[in-house]
Amino acid sequence: MSGSRPPVQESPGDRPTTIDVSRLHRQPGSLLDLSFEFPAPGELHVAMARVPEGSPIEMDVSVESVVEGIWVSGTADVDVEAECSRCLDSVEWTQMVPIEQMFRYPATDARGALIEEPQDDDEETPEVVVDTIDLHGPLRDAVVLSLPLAPLCSPDCQGICPTCGERVEVDGAPHDHPVSDPRWSALEQLLTGSPPQMPEER
Ligand SMILES: [Zn+2]
Ligand SMILES: [Zn+2]
Repeated sequence: MSGSRPPVQESPGDRPTTIDVSRLHRQPGSLLDLSFEFPAPGELHVAMARVPEGSPIEMDVSVESVVEGIWVSGTADVDVEAECSRCLDSVEWTQMVPIEQMFRYPATDARGALIEEPQDDDEETPEVVVDTIDLHGPLRDAVVLSLPLAPLCSPDCQGICPTCGERVEVDGAPHDHPVSDPRWSALEQLLTGSPPQMPEER
């Protein structure tokens, strides 16, 4: 036993993507540059590509106070696992996903009370909630949009041979099949030096 750690004080709903913006004091122009890393949530995927749950996501963002709210811009580096859509080989890479998101301050009346606003626009702008913003949704949307719907192991992947189901190699010998005509098979065997296969006698 190496001594027990004190329990982590984490209120429900706390996420690693949550940023405290109280230090910006709602002063337009004030800025935070943040770099942080956290394990990927489990919902970053499309049909043939995914960011594995728990893999490290590295975020570099600048968090800027503007008049209407908080403007976030930066990047997330994510690991991607995918299957090539032509040959089904697995492929892995790391990609940089740009993130840009406005968080607006909730509308208040003259006395500072929150005004319930009807959500009329289909493009919902997330709000600054008690001096915090949560990048979870913007990150998820940006990552999912950046994942390829038809990943390729290489741009010139030739895919799978329709005749034998093997992968057609990109370089090396051309992938050919002798026409399987029984009249030629004896000659083929002579040419390749292998003895003709006789039916086994019983
Ligand atoms: Zn491929
Ligand atoms: Zn083939």
